[in-house]
Amino acid sequence: MSTIAGNIAQVEARIRAAALAVQRDVTSIHLLAVSKTKPAGALREAHAAGIRDFGENYLQEARTKQVELADLPLCWHFIGPIQSNKTRDIAEHFAWVHSVDRLKIAQRLSEQRPADLPPLNICIQVNVSGEASKSGCTPTDLPALAAAISALPRLKLRGLMAIPEPTEDRAEQDAAFAAVRTLQESLNMGLDTLSMGMSHDLESAIAQGATWVRIGTALFGARDYGQA
Ligand SMILES: *Cc1c(COP(=O)(O)O)cnc(C)c1O
Repeated sequence: MSTIAGNIAQVEARIRAAALAVQRDVTSIHLLAVSKTKPAGALREAHAAGIRDFGENYLQEARTKQVELADLPLCWHFIGPIQSNKTRDIAEHFAWVHSVDRLKIAQRLSEQRPADLPPLNICIQVNVSGEASKSGCTPTDLPALAAAISALPRLKLRGLMAIPEPTEDRAEQDAAFAAVRTLQESLNMGLDTLSMGMSHDLESAIAQGATWVRIGTALFGARDYGQA
């Protein structure tokens, strides 16, 4: 039986090997544990094994776990699709949002970010898979969206997030992640974050410059949505 601590050690070893392969400093790559559908006890176990950053996709589920785990010094990242009526809770209870893909949502997050908290860290989700993906702003719309978001007072635009169409083909993975990096570079805004890479493609993402890899299955096992 694999344990969460054992899985974390394996994922960290994959991250180190991937960084070494392209001579990147491993400290520039951060592990976001994606805990959607997993019970608070699993997050507590991951925390005990050194994890501090958790990514959640569903607001209500995340809020329940945040209350259950309030005794731990965790950093919460929202990574799922965002409806307008959810922005206040997200602005109040998360440190990062990786999945902003339209200005209206960003404006609401900025307006609703409490004054006593630091600016909310934002990644713009960009769609590099064309019609295959419904989420994410288009590469064409990205420059104007990035400029507008960077002007919002209570947000700190950190970089880009992408979820390329899943493929086992390394060359296709590399091409998609390289496209994200190229988009970030072409913005020329000094952004320091590329949130890309999941359980099956973290090696490619790291080779192409990922600074956050978002890992669920490889840490916590397969998700059972029926039990969620
Ligand atoms: C679920 C999810 C992940 C984690 O995916 P795994 O394949 O389980 O590692 C990463 N990012 C986002 C946005 C997700 O929704």
